[in-house]
Amino acid sequence: MVRESLSVDDVWKALEDVKDPEIPKLSLVDMGIVTSVSIGEDESVRVVITPTFAGCPALKMMADDIKDRLGKLTKGNVEVEVNYDVQWSTDMLTEKGRQMLKESHFALPGQVNGFVSAESLIKVECPFCGSRDTRLQSPFGPTQCRAIHYCDNCKQAFEQFKPV
Ligand SMILES: [Zn+2]
Repeated sequence: MVRESLSVDDVWKALEDVKDPEIPKLSLVDMGIVTSVSIGEDESVRVVITPTFAGCPALKMMADDIKDRLGKLTKGNVEVEVNYDVQWSTDMLTEKGRQMLKESHFALPGQVNGFVSAESLIKVECPFCGSRDTRLQSPFGPTQCRAIHYCDNCKQAFEQFKPV
């Protein structure tokens, strides 16, 4: 069997198939979670990811999914490294990721430069109507990483990513 050698582009492309466990519409690439990809000797692949939300149980799931997907691409070793030095922020979402989140009616965490005010947790902009007449309904959404809010203006419940 003749194989072409693996390129970094191939790896990025394959990673687009790996969905975020929190928001399966988005890939880890769309989310900006994958920060770097490198290929070493014997087609070993090293992927660096940044954790989105502190304490998210999804992290291990993501690493396993990446290994599964890339295992189909290379016979080499696949290594997933979590870089805690880089703080994920919504700024790291790709344009496509941002658009898809909006279409899924997910509210983004207020952007904060590392600082989360109580205000940004409570008066979240409604992704349906844009009103800030909203309230935090439950600090614990379906997962640890989401919160449920309720919009008093259009009477819809919506989910928000909890800012880190
Ligand atoms: Zn609304």
